[in-house]
Amino acid sequence: MVKRVRGTQDILPFNSKAWQEIERISRKIFSLYDYQEIRTPILEEPSLFNRSLGDTTEIIQKQMFRVLHERDQLVLRPEGTASVVRAYLENNLDRRYGVVKLYYFGPMFRAERPQKGRLRQFHHLGIEAIGSLSPLLDVEVISLSDRLLRELGISGYQIYINSLGCKDDKIELGRILRKNLKGRLSELCPDCQVRFGRNVFRILDCKKPRCQKVVANLNLGHDYLCSDCREHFQRVIDGLRAINITYQVSFSLVRGLDYYTRTVFEIKHNRLGAQDALGAGGRYDNLVGQLGGQDKGAIGFALGIERLLLVRDRTADSSSKQLVYIITLGEEADKEGVCLLHALRDNNVFADMDYSERSLKAQMRQANDLNARFCIIIGEDELKKSVVSLRDMASGKQEEVPERYLLNRLSSLGLTAN
Ligand SMILES: [Zn+2]
Ligand SMILES: [Zn+2]
Repeated sequence: MVKRVRGTQDILPFNSKAWQEIERISRKIFSLYDYQEIRTPILEEPSLFNRSLGDTTEIIQKQMFRVLHERDQLVLRPEGTASVVRAYLENNLDRRYGVVKLYYFGPMFRAERPQKGRLRQFHHLGIEAIGSLSPLLDVEVISLSDRLLRELGISGYQIYINSLGCKDDKIELGRILRKNLKGRLSELCPDCQVRFGRNVFRILDCKKPRCQKVVANLNLGHDYLCSDCREHFQRVIDGLRAINITYQVSFSLVRGLDYYTRTVFEIKHNRLGAQDALGAGGRYDNLVGQLGGQDKGAIGFALGIERLLLVRDRTADSSSKQLVYIITLGEEADKEGVCLLHALRDNNVFADMDYSERSLKAQMRQANDLNARFCIIIGEDELKKSVVSLRDMASGKQEEVPERYLLNRLSSLGLTAN
């Protein structure tokens, strides 16, 4: 038997409802905040990510899935932001609107060593707001993530925020980190010793206790921020306070990707453990310029859908659909049943029937398994009298209904969908 690829998942019928619910609620909130959907291809040119994420990031060095076809070398996208910015530029969205607010859902691919909570194909939902440097936009994006999590029935999360500053400030932050870590290199894990030379920011993300201990002792502050960036951060904080968003400033929060500038944030959940965040985001004020456009202020975030599902308190609502299940006994009844099934569906009644010509008992069991609200039974007796037996599966009560009144009866029971 052929098995699925390691690090991928099948989303089965009993799970897909929860996925649909997450998408439905997200779409509602996104549209409430005036964001519109964008769908970009899964295949992209490798240079898109080399130029935006940074050559020294783990994603570029180890985790990209490369697709070779004849002379084409493509990659499966590892994240959404770079693709959205590419599409924004390529389709001239920058010329048509002021702040462009976009949202997306979709699979992302990273060749990680598969382990619990880490998939090689995982799913993000995210937003990007492109075209403004205002700290008020940061406040909107962070508050949107907070509102979305609450609407999804998730509690017990914590929003951490920090500022990386502008390009120059980031260089200064890197210098400060290298200066403070230089004398303590031997205390770091081997990976972090490599990171020291390549991408010192990533040491702050290391999950190894020994490295976290070193980081905790760094006494980081915001000394590296220029006055503009300092003011920007203050205005973000003030804005969040004004609308009562709970957050925590974390000086050691840096996002590993090169494109981040100024405000960065991360949403953690105690049930995921120290390893993982529910999602993260931040400003990327230089990315549009780097990808060939005019510099534009921009900010976004992405949440991992698999992780949202792990921490949701609410299970998917299964009561919304009221199935009517048709049980037929004998060939004549089959014919009658098929016509009735067709008529019910034409009238927007959720309906199904058993095609296996089994016994009454077996078909009733099937109806139970499917959580049917009512059964319609057609046997010889019913055919003779031109009626059907309508059985309430919850109470077990059964009534005979003349066929021509059936739709009226079902509608009076509230079974016709709109
Ligand atoms: Zn600055
Ligand atoms: Zn480390």
